[in-house]
Amino acid sequence: MPPSPQRTALVTGASRGIGSAVAVALGQRGFKVIVNYLNNHEAAAKTVALVEQAGGQAIAVQADVGNREDRARLLTATLAALGHIDVLINNAGIAPATRDDLLDADEANYDRVMDTNLKGPFFLTQQVARAMVATPRATASASSSTPVAGPAPTPLRCIININSVSAYAATINRSQYCIAKAGMAMMTHLFAARLAGEGIHVYEIRPGIIATDMAAGAKEKYDKLIHQGAMLPLPRWGQPDDVAKAVVMLVDGALPYSTGSTLDIDGGFHLRML
Ligand code: NAP
Repeated sequence: MPPSPQRTALVTGASRGIGSAVAVALGQRGFKVIVNYLNNHEAAAKTVALVEQAGGQAIAVQADVGNREDRARLLTATLAALGHIDVLINNAGIAPATRDDLLDADEANYDRVMDTNLKGPFFLTQQVARAMVATPRATASASSSTPVAGPAPTPLRCIININSVSAYAATINRSQYCIAKAGMAMMTHLFAARLAGEGIHVYEIRPGIIATDMAAGAKEKYDKLIHQGAMLPLPRWGQPDDVAKAVVMLVDGALPYSTGSTLDIDGGFHLRML
């Protein structure tokens, strides 16, 4: 039997935090990964080395996902290096430069967060989806008869949006972030509906409080909420690897009869309790 072709992934914002953990986890599955980053070349090079140590291959590509020309260059570089894209992980994201009350939120800050966290992922997904549709590949969607205890699931071609509990939890001094993440939830539904017929699954992962540089600025606040309140049924910080495990499950095809769905990786934050 010919060896199955190496699976490929583009992970945005993969130099640090959740994106880096996802890239390394995909490396452990033998993927060839594009490690996209914005500024931090050293961190991106470290992720590349970790992916390769894990058994995969990786190439770092600098590009601002919020910038149209950069997105086009990222796609060109990705297709040149990978030939085709099996998996897109829309992970790159930023917090607002300053946390301002809703009544003081300024337009420049709003534009920057929306460009990076919503407009960029939307148009990057559109471009990647076009490339995926142009190179159809076999997926698990075609086989509905795999018995539960049968062979391992067939890997899926998929797009995974790393969203946030901020898609529904209102934080009044991070309004732009919440609006962008709420928009990403609809973006997941739209692309899932459009791409189902193409054999491409679209999912959303909603991390809660994850120990990365992004959350470090609010460490004291989160420490209190986690350890002194009743907010988290599983009272600990999430780790980037908690999110990476969910990504691996999805790209491995564990949920072949599902698209447009959300996985809450949040220690139970989304539960409403009395
Ligand atoms: P992080 O540690 O701050 O890392 C952000 C990553 O995104 C870095 O690799 C950074 O590259 C890259 N990046 C930032 N702006 C970019 C741009 N315009 N173009 C390309 N890459 C860009 O963040 P994180 O905590 O891992 O967050 C990753 C995702 O998870 C985000 O979408 C975030 O909203 C979401 N999330 C995080 C948490 C949390 O508690 N940490 C919770 C829920 C959701 P450089 O290294 O070059 O700067």
